[in-house]
Amino acid sequence: MFLAGVMTIQSELKKQLKNRFFDRIRFDEPMAAHTTFRVGGPADAFVTVTDESEMIYLVKWLKENDLPFFIVGGGTNLLVRDAGIRGVVISMAKGLAKISRQGTTMLSAMAGGSLNALCRFAINHGLAGLNFALGIPGTVGGAIRMNAGAWKGDMSNVLDSIRIICPDGRIESVDKTGLAFSYRSLLISDANGRDLAASVIIEGRFSLSPQSPESLKEEADSLLRARKNSQPTGFASAGCFFRNPDNLESAGKLIDLAGGKGLRVGDAQVSTKHANFIVNRGRATAEDILRLMDIVQEAVFKKFNITLEPEVKIVGD
Ligand SMILES: Cc1cc2nc3c(=O)[nH]c(=O)nc-3n(C[C@H](O)[C@H](O)[C@H](O)COP(=O)(O)OP(=O)(O)OC[C@H]3O[C@@H](n4cnc5c(N)ncnc54)[C@H](O)[C@@H]3O)c2cc1C
Repeated sequence: MFLAGVMTIQSELKKQLKNRFFDRIRFDEPMAAHTTFRVGGPADAFVTVTDESEMIYLVKWLKENDLPFFIVGGGTNLLVRDAGIRGVVISMAKGLAKISRQGTTMLSAMAGGSLNALCRFAINHGLAGLNFALGIPGTVGGAIRMNAGAWKGDMSNVLDSIRIICPDGRIESVDKTGLAFSYRSLLISDANGRDLAASVIIEGRFSLSPQSPESLKEEADSLLRARKNSQPTGFASAGCFFRNPDNLESAGKLIDLAGGKGLRVGDAQVSTKHANFIVNRGRATAEDILRLMDIVQEAVFKKFNITLEPEVKIVGD
């Protein structure tokens, strides 16, 4: 979906985009304004789409004009480099947010809606299965794409199927047989095994089980309290920075034991509360964060001979 390149958008194409999207398209839009890390240089173009037909139109138009695109959800798992993103960044945070109940235990949610709104909807309808996700910021689409998880649960436990827009603009429904989940990752393929990972997720359907709203609320409150107590608040971040290594101590514990807590490059700092959070204390650049990432990786490697891999998506030039 995201293709790095030196291409910029020619003025004729910019004009066409402007004519179609009016004030919903911005050029040279700072990505720092669209990520919870509050860093990231300009996207060549940033479009907010409001409905599915517009998304299909845009995906087709971009293919015809050979322009790369990148979907941003809530921007809560992204580290965008300081030179920004070439091509078109597409946001659907302001549209495509509907949630509906289907039958007794199924919920459908459009990808641009808030994950927390979906979790609350499930609680209010007495449907269990999504409480693990309460407090994870971002959109439904981003959570599906990242197989977001917490408290030993993740999207793979509850996701029944998705609807996607393929890079050629076709709509496809993909059920469990085409969804390969792993830790913070999802591969999507069609019935013939064709890779559809570069598609736009437009909707997710979730299979849940009945439980009383009161007991779900009680569980939700306790999970949210535990989240609040363990995570840093008050500074910008993208959540856990590194993936937990397979079958080993958590990345946070390894960083802590390697003396990483509090390490700092410019305004980028390893949180003193949770060592797997890198926080932006105000004016950090992506470069600061990437330099700090290297320092932390080196410290952990030196002590444990383990290479930590980033969980955040590092994108852009
Ligand atoms: C304070 C904090 C706490 C967090 N806690 C957790 C946690 O407990 N567990 C956890 O798993 N994560 C956590 N995160 C990380 C993040 O919130 C999740 O990964 C979240 O699901 C990302 O959703 P998003 O909409 O922000 O996606 P973005 O960050 O915008 O994008 C992430 C990726 O998904 C892709 N994407 C987004 N939407 C779509 C779409 N519709 N179609 C196709 N691709 C799409 C993007 O292109 C990108 O590659 C935390 C982050 C923060 C800031």
